[in-house]
Amino acid sequence: MNLCIQCPRECKTDRESKTGFCGVTDALSVAKIMLHEWEEPCICQGAGAGAIFFSGCNLHCLYCQNCKISEGERGEIMTDAELEEKIIELRDAGASCIDLVTPTHYTERLIRILRSVKPRLNIPVVWNSSGYEKAEVLRELYGLVDIYMPDLKYYSAELSAKYSHAPDYFTVAQAAIGEMLSQVGAPRFDGDRLLSGVIVRHLVLPDCRRDSIELLERLRDTVGQPTNVILSLMSQYTPDFYIQSHPDCTHRALCRRLTSFEYNSVLRRAEELGFEGYFQNASSASSGFTPEF
Ligand code: SF4
Repeated sequence: MNLCIQCPRECKTDRESKTGFCGVTDALSVAKIMLHEWEEPCICQGAGAGAIFFSGCNLHCLYCQNCKISEGERGEIMTDAELEEKIIELRDAGASCIDLVTPTHYTERLIRILRSVKPRLNIPVVWNSSGYEKAEVLRELYGLVDIYMPDLKYYSAELSAKYSHAPDYFTVAQAAIGEMLSQVGAPRFDGDRLLSGVIVRHLVLPDCRRDSIELLERLRDTVGQPTNVILSLMSQYTPDFYIQSHPDCTHRALCRRLTSFEYNSVLRRAEELGFEGYFQNASSASSGFTPEF
């Protein structure tokens, strides 16, 4: 029996027969494969990013925009060889990268798959994660991933416990980002195209601007020079998904959009701290940017 401790949940589930906190068994479940045009422009050129959305998630944020798949309810079971074939098909379709979305709970499996397929790829592999993953497990991905794209969601333990059931979120994600940066280093470009590096995504949430500012200050301490990472500071929080799954609206702040004041105050601090990257405007705050599953 192999009890899973692959991610920081360490829920010790026997995934041969049961689903873990992440909502999936050992079977590799893929919810969608597509050429994705809405990722950050430096990884999304030509035909788009070759996105592979895995079923399940080890966070289960209350406001998840992909909850149809993060709960592990939808997905096609694939063998390693079948997923490798799909990766090669994306490459042949002109994908600008292979974008592994929410891969953390399949890390051990993906290490095997990437070892086999990586020599046949001439495009970067992107690890597009929640950031809630173990640094020592990520270490095994050395040489297999070119671009890490973790979220960094919260600084406060109270907030991460309330919204994502993970009071240790920040310390875990901070160590994960440190490991990612040690593997791939500062961003390297070919023209507008990112070849390797770390893109840190942060979604500013309603009523959380002070937490966002604290988080950015800690992030700068973690990465040394702010330009060692690319910051993607997102404003597109949309309450639709939270309201649909929680009609009683227990957390009032999650039932409204972000204000311009909230986003701009975080943006100003990001600029003062010397971060560079992608900054958004309110027009992207729409559920229409979420792929249909
Ligand atoms: S990957 Fe899933 S089963 Fe394994 S420890 Fe994390 S939540 Fe539990």
